[in-house]
Amino acid sequence: MLIAGNWKMFKGPGETEEFARAFSAPDGVDVVIAPPFTSLREAVAAGLQTFAQNVHWADEGAFTGEISAPMLKELGVAGAIVGHSERRQLFGETDDGVARRTAHALEAGLRIIACVGESEAEREAGETEAVLRRQVSVLEPHEQLVIAYEPVWAIGTGRTATPELAQEAHALIKSLLDAPVLYGGSVKPDNAAELLAQPDVDGALVGGASLDPDSFGAICLAASRS
Ligand code: PEP
Repeated sequence: MLIAGNWKMFKGPGETEEFARAFSAPDGVDVVIAPPFTSLREAVAAGLQTFAQNVHWADEGAFTGEISAPMLKELGVAGAIVGHSERRQLFGETDDGVARRTAHALEAGLRIIACVGESEAEREAGETEAVLRRQVSVLEPHEQLVIAYEPVWAIGTGRTATPELAQEAHALIKSLLDAPVLYGGSVKPDNAAELLAQPDVDGALVGGASLDPDSFGAICLAASRS
């Protein structure tokens, strides 16, 4: 089981050190924290398995605001999230860009969590399967590649997919690509166990609940028991 915490634009270096002092991961769970770029060094130094929240497809170049795989590796960062719905919706990232970021980072030796998922309008229009097929089809299998199924309507909203709905989407994704699939979307200590109990749910990508060491610890504990 992999449990990853996506801190988004929260927690500077000091708060990252504070979190690390208060958090302990249970045995038997692969735990990842993805802090903002400016807190990566502190997260690594604190002994957390650390991912970035994005990574570019070039090693260096005229790409203002971007960070490359060799730069992350130099800091001791183990991997990166790519294609988060906030990147796609708010910053115009495309399937093609997500595919390029993923392929290059994997080649550079980083682990990757690639996010896919339908919006509320797409689900209501019956397009969930088509969207997932389109987003997954640009990715190539790789032993360090993990997919996160994150229905956009469940992210940061407190609305969670039912375990059955998550299982259905995960099974579809696994039929398209041989990779572990995490569920993401308002995972909390009180719903983690039933989501993680689904046969094709291989872990969770956690946003809001990963900011608190106790709630993130409780989700990791649920994973260690499932
Ligand atoms: C996320 O940002 O990947 C996420 C799943 O957020 P939340 O858990 O807050 O819904």
